[in-house]
Amino acid sequence: MHVTVLSGAGISAESGVPTFRDVETGLWAKVDPYEISSAEGWQAHPERVWAWYLWRHYLMQGVQPNNGHRAVAAWEDHAEVHVVTQNVDNLHERAGSGRVYHLHGSLFEFRCDRCGREYLGELPDMPAPVEAVEPPKCAFCGGQIRPNVVWFGEPLPESAWQKSVEAVANADFVVVVGTSSIVYPAAGLPELALTNGIPVKGNFLMLTLCTILYVAATTGPKVS
Ligand SMILES: [Zn+2]
Repeated sequence: MHVTVLSGAGISAESGVPTFRDVETGLWAKVDPYEISSAEGWQAHPERVWAWYLWRHYLMQGVQPNNGHRAVAAWEDHAEVHVVTQNVDNLHERAGSGRVYHLHGSLFEFRCDRCGREYLGELPDMPAPVEAVEPPKCAFCGGQIRPNVVWFGEPLPESAWQKSVEAVANADFVVVVGTSSIVYPAAGLPELALTNGIPVKGNFLMLTLCTILYVAATTGPKVS
């Protein structure tokens, strides 16, 4: 039995994962959300973006997996489970899930913004938010170290996307947890399951008219 779980922000909400709105106090109240989640913002003010992500990284370390993450991990006792998540937290992994594909990257991975090499060096502790911190430099090329998250306008990570497509295409069963608004192209994954005749359980609010039309178009009688 091969189960693929598509998860979104809702599964982590019960853990108290801070959203931008929650932490948008004090000095962050003045920050434009686009500036701290876009390549343009990074180019313009890397020290501000880096400070923001260090703070989020610090906050996330104090958050624990909840029963939703634990239930998904426990399925591995009975089935081959693949987790495709839009979340940048690591709560699925910390609950014990072994195969987790982060479509939007991870707050717990860092890489060079020039050569792309993973950064495994030290991060400064940040128990209180500050406005600007100079990002570390890549030891190989001198580029700046950035969080390995997907910002506005950036493509999804190729490897995670490929593994997600395979996990859906090979599933006996697809479960959608904690999202009513999967963002394209991830939104295409439940469609892929449906067009392959794989049962999908979960929140069907995301099945928009477009999805229904898409499924009808791709499973209907061929014209040619
Ligand atoms: Zn580099």
